[in-house]
Amino acid sequence: MSEVLRVEGLSAGYGDLIAVHDVSFSIGQGDVFVLLGANGAGKTTILRCITGLMSPRQGRIIAGGAELIGKKAHEVAKLGVSHVPEGRRVFTHLSVEENLGVSFIDARAKGRTLRQAIDEIYALFPRLSERRKQHAGTMSGGEQQMLAIGRALMNAPDLLMLDEPSLGLSPLMAELVFERLAVIRAGGTSILLVEQNSSCLELADRGLMLANGHVVLAGDRAALEDSDMVRRAYLGTN
Ligand code: ATP
Repeated sequence: MSEVLRVEGLSAGYGDLIAVHDVSFSIGQGDVFVLLGANGAGKTTILRCITGLMSPRQGRIIAGGAELIGKKAHEVAKLGVSHVPEGRRVFTHLSVEENLGVSFIDARAKGRTLRQAIDEIYALFPRLSERRKQHAGTMSGGEQQMLAIGRALMNAPDLLMLDEPSLGLSPLMAELVFERLAVIRAGGTSILLVEQNSSCLELADRGLMLANGHVVLAGDRAALEDSDMVRRAYLGTN
């Protein structure tokens, strides 16, 4: 199976704080990989390093055959890595369709016109099609999350990274988002998912758990579900 992302010996921090210590993992094409861990465990820091928002202290990050460290966020996006940050960043004063339009990068068009790319997103999220003229800031949290995911998909990424997409959503809306992620994966896009919602395990092929920036567990879905640490933290059981 071909690899869409490889992280090797990644360490990163803020000032004197080392937030991520020597983390390694890889993601195969079409895989859903979950990063688990309590608040402050270092999950978002790993995503920031991958997307070029932060420079790691050590390590390598390979995607699309290229080293990502040292690249700017827009260069990382051109290499096929899209990021849905925590808090669903959308342009609140732009309409749904304008939000999708400004996210399109010609270099990643893969033969699709802007119109075709937008229509692909509407097929995935019909709710966005119904609201195409509405200002994003006036939509519900779940609708904004759909739009944030739609924006990240405009460039047909090889890897879609999402930072807690279910945060603040109703259980029903969170289920809908996870169900759509399954459809995105079925289309061949790999997913790196940071989550605190136990439903993410149903979607996961593999993953790892972080504590204080260290990997404390790594394995396939069964290994994660069987782990006492994961059960305590995510499933509310011993
Ligand atoms: P959460 O689920 O709360 O977002 P997380 O696992 O994503 O947590 P990180 O955001 O990566 O964790 O934070 C890891 C550590 O780095 C924490 O101790 C946090 O306080 C610290 N940290 C994160 N961002 C900064 C920053 N901009 N400046 C200083 N310290 C930071």
